[in-house]
Amino acid sequence: MKIIMLGAPGAGKGTQAKKIAAKYDIPHISTGDIFRANIKNNTELGQKAKTYMDKGELVPDSLVVDLIMDRFKEADCANGYVLDGFPRTIPQAEALDEALKASGAKVDFAIDVEVPDENIINRMGGRRACVGCGATYHVEFNPPKQADVCDTCGQKLILRDDDKPETVKNRLNVYHEQTQPLIDYYQNAGVLKQVDGTKDMNDVFTDIVDILSK
Ligand code: ADP
Ligand code: AMP
Repeated sequence: MKIIMLGAPGAGKGTQAKKIAAKYDIPHISTGDIFRANIKNNTELGQKAKTYMDKGELVPDSLVVDLIMDRFKEADCANGYVLDGFPRTIPQAEALDEALKASGAKVDFAIDVEVPDENIINRMGGRRACVGCGATYHVEFNPPKQADVCDTCGQKLILRDDDKPETVKNRLNVYHEQTQPLIDYYQNAGVLKQVDGTKDMNDVFTDIVDILSK
C-alpha cells in the first residue's frame, strides 16, 4: 500500500502517518525527519537543507527527489510506505509518479488532513519535538508525562525553530502556493481522500482506517 499524507504544516500528517505505519506494518517516511537527521549529523545535505528550512521555505526539488528515490531502494519499502511531507510540489509528485510507473505501481491513497489556518498556529506553537528520537508531542493535545521530557527516550523536548510564529506564517504561505495544488492533482488521479483533521487525533485515525479498509 502506497500512501501519501497531504495537509498544511502542523495538520497532523506525522501523527497519523506513525499510526498508519504501525497498523499496516509499512515504513513511515518523513522527508522533514530525514533532513533533520542530516542537520543533526552535520552532513553536506543537512547544511544545504537548513538554509531553506530555517526560513520556512522548501528545499529544492532536485535535492528532495534524489533523497526519496534512494530511500525507496531500501528493503523495507517492498510492501509500500506512508509518505509524510513528500511530495510538496507538482514536480515532486510528477517525479514520484514516473518512478512508480517504471515499476508498474501507483499511489493508492492521498489522504488530505484538513485543518484551517487559524488552528495551525496553535498546533505548531504547542508542538514539542524530541531532540533524541524525533517523537512529537503537543503541550495541550498530546502532552508528555513529564513536561519537556520524551516519554520514549527520556531526552529533552524542544520547540522547533521553524515552529516559531514568524516562520509558521511563511510556511503556511508556501503551503498554499506550492503544496495545496497537489489536492487537485490527486483528485484528478482519483486517489484523493479528505479527512477532518480538527477532530481528536484518535478519531482522525478511525476515519483514515475506514478509508484504507474500503
Ligand atoms: P505535521 O506532521 O502535519 O506537521 P504533526 O503530526 O507534527 O503535524 O502535528 C502538529 C502538532 O499538532 C503536534 O504537536 C501534534 O501532537 C498535534 N496534533 C496532531 N493531530 C492533532 C489533533 N487531531 N488534534 C490536536 N492536536 C493534534
Ligand atoms: P516537515 O517536517 O514535513 O514539516 O518539514 C520541515 C521542513 O523541511 C519544510 O518546511 C521544508 O523546508 C523541508 N522539507 C521537508 N520535506 C520537503 C519536501 N518534500 N520538499 C521541500 N522541502 C521539504
